[in-house]
Amino acid sequence: MSNQSNQIVIDSSQSEIAEIRTNLVKNHRSLYSRKAFKAHSVVAEFDWTQIHSKPSYLTVQISEKEHIELVPTYLECINHSCDPNSFFDTTSKQLVSLKDIAVGEEITFFYPSAEWDMDQIFQCDCGCSNCLGVIKGAKYLDDRCLKNYRFTDFIKQKLTSRGV
Ligand SMILES: [Zn+2]
Repeated sequence: MSNQSNQIVIDSSQSEIAEIRTNLVKNHRSLYSRKAFKAHSVVAEFDWTQIHSKPSYLTVQISEKEHIELVPTYLECINHSCDPNSFFDTTSKQLVSLKDIAVGEEITFFYPSAEWDMDQIFQCDCGCSNCLGVIKGAKYLDDRCLKNYRFTDFIKQKLTSRGV
């Protein structure tokens, strides 16, 4: 039987702030911090070169029909959590920490914070006590849940026009 470490490949070559850990068994990538960040600080600046009219599991939504490919690309390894520690501010183009992030901690964000109506819905298994279960996008969140999260300016506009 192989142990856990044999199943995880660590790539720290792409960034000084984080490393990609690939689980070879699940063929699943995650991003782990290599630095400590205080809450509400800038973790990374980002930008985009490619904009798509349709979302994919790697894109981040910035407007009704604009879905960006993140640059630097390692940021696309950030997984969803219902109890996230980071947020993609698509207006300032900064990944910011929502709480303290320790060295070696997985960096996560709340997909519906930037996605209105997701292309690929999924059953979340983040394991936090307030896990929402099926994740489909901000459009499907109830008002009570909205108070717990920070959203991009685009999603805030959509929520306002919905009447929240
Ligand atoms: Zn969850």
